[in-house]
Amino acid sequence: MTSRGMGILFTSLRMFLRRTIRKQANNYVVTYGKHKKVQSFLGVHMLSNKQMPGHVRKLTRSTSRKPKNDRSLLDSLELLMIDTLLGGNISLQDQVKFHECKECLAGDGEYAKIGNFVLYRKHEQIYIGSLKKVVVLQSKQEMTTVAFVKRGECTTDIQKNCQKVQESDRTEAVKTTDILNAVHTIHDCKGGYCRIAENQSGQYLKHSSHPVHIINKFRLSKLPDTLTDI
Ligand SMILES: [Zn+2]
Repeated sequence: MTSRGMGILFTSLRMFLRRTIRKQANNYVVTYGKHKKVQSFLGVHMLSNKQMPGHVRKLTRSTSRKPKNDRSLLDSLELLMIDTLLGGNISLQDQVKFHECKECLAGDGEYAKIGNFVLYRKHEQIYIGSLKKVVVLQSKQEMTTVAFVKRGECTTDIQKNCQKVQESDRTEAVKTTDILNAVHTIHDCKGGYCRIAENQSGQYLKHSSHPVHIINKFRLSKLPDTLTDI
């Protein structure tokens, strides 16, 4: 075959492939797939690489330098002790400002929000837990960020081929840099007998207080396939 003949063959082949590939997904599917909620469920385009892991954002500024007046924060002395235990350098003599934050950047590049489950490192072990509080301690020289996590208990449901998680009573303090992954979970509505309720704006799913959540395995994340059962 001449080189011109080969060229024509390749051009036709390329056009055929383009047409075939374009036909694979219906326009409705493509539009549905671009929906913000669907992309969030699948974990698409959620990664942020502008900041270093452990970065916190959405600060709730605390005007008081004495958090004793603010019941939502721990006692300042307790916080400084925790900072020391975690290897921080803020001393009691420093003028320290305290802030709470709503989000913290996990090591996998995704922001974890207060209430989300996360994987975190503690004493060289990896645990799952729910993020309860993120506090920034800031002196003139130093800034440390501490996350309070409620340890989770993970179980495997072999019949339904999924992993479930629920909070234990144990709360731990870790550096925000030890938050490794955000774990996307869905409430176990079937187990919790959650019902459809109605208000002025329409129908909505009313979750019960059932404490079990199912780990979303459909999400494109850097989580291990199976988390360690406790
Ligand atoms: Zn529910």
